[in-house]
Amino acid sequence: MAVVHQTILEIDLNALQHNFEYLTSTLHQNTKILAVVKAFGYGTDASIIAKKLENLNVDYFAVAYAKEGVSLRDAGIKTPILVLHPQIIDFRTLIEHHLEPNLYSKRVLESFIQEGESQHLKNYPIHIKFNTGLNRLGFSENDIDMIISSIKNTKSVKITSVFSHLAASEDKSEKDFSKHQINTFKKVTDQLTLKLEYKPILHMTNTSGILNYPEAHFDMVRAGIGLFGFANDELHTKKLRNVAALKSIISQIHTIEKDQSVGYNRAFISDKLIKTATIPIGHADGIHRAFGNGKGYVTILGEKAPIIGNVCMDMIMVNITDINCKEGDEVIVFDNQSTVDDLAKRINTISYEILTAISQRVKRIVN
Ligand SMILES: *Cc1c(COP(=O)(O)O)cnc(C)c1O
Repeated sequence: MAVVHQTILEIDLNALQHNFEYLTSTLHQNTKILAVVKAFGYGTDASIIAKKLENLNVDYFAVAYAKEGVSLRDAGIKTPILVLHPQIIDFRTLIEHHLEPNLYSKRVLESFIQEGESQHLKNYPIHIKFNTGLNRLGFSENDIDMIISSIKNTKSVKITSVFSHLAASEDKSEKDFSKHQINTFKKVTDQLTLKLEYKPILHMTNTSGILNYPEAHFDMVRAGIGLFGFANDELHTKKLRNVAALKSIISQIHTIEKDQSVGYNRAFISDKLIKTATIPIGHADGIHRAFGNGKGYVTILGEKAPIIGNVCMDMIMVNITDINCKEGDEVIVFDNQSTVDDLAKRINTISYEILTAISQRVKRIVN
């Protein structure tokens, strides 16, 4: 592992490969795997992650927005890319880069077909999403006939896949709800494929769905957070490896006398003599302000150093009174899943948000 000279996010591609292989090992031989690399690859680096997964023969990628897909194409990614939430204004860009839209309503379906007709496209791959209970995006069962007649009226598009999304795949107490969603999806896709007269790829599960609902793997699964080492449950997370480690260094050490304050708004006032370290990472780098005033911590020489006072835009100050460290020493913000999960819990959020918050200002280093 390299010596740290600044704030960096280390990306471990061997860990990524391990997680990919672990998730794949839970699938039937013929089940395809789609890697979700939206939001800069869950805050890491989407192109680096996608290149590695392409080498491992991943079947599909998904991103949320067209622009994210364009970046992958610019990086040389050739694998099909599903855009989960395309905006109508981006349809031309999307087609230009051979990105495949999720069409989830009459409005977006008709407008994509119109664009396809005007460009004389033939059998352009599209993906149809059904809402089975998340109530976020998707057609309802009542839309099937409308979808079929739109599709049969044009040669410009072809339904490559039909999918849905579970609302609570990580939540064991919502098993009945998830099973109901799975059954609804089966019913809807049975009707649709019968009327279509060909069989699109069916997919429904995210990481927790892959692990908790093997009966819902269908033809393909969509893995996101699991690839980065998190399974939303301790047992499975233990089998995965951490991909992203956030590290920094000590810029300066201060001795703070009793009754002196530290940081903006004098949020911390010392009740005794202490030592603080200033670290070059702040809320503009993804250290949420909610971590201020002792909620969050970093690790220095294996010891926890709590954040003191308010998180600044570019820096934090931490308490190192009992740590025998010096300026220039390495600081770990997180380098394993349990710390990410612990940090997330401390500000009532989830690993997803901690990871995706790491801003583009932080240098990415591949190990
Ligand atoms: C983000 C997303 C996923 C991936 O979910 P994870 O829990 O990260 O595996 C899968 N499907 C859809 C529709 C998504 O938006």
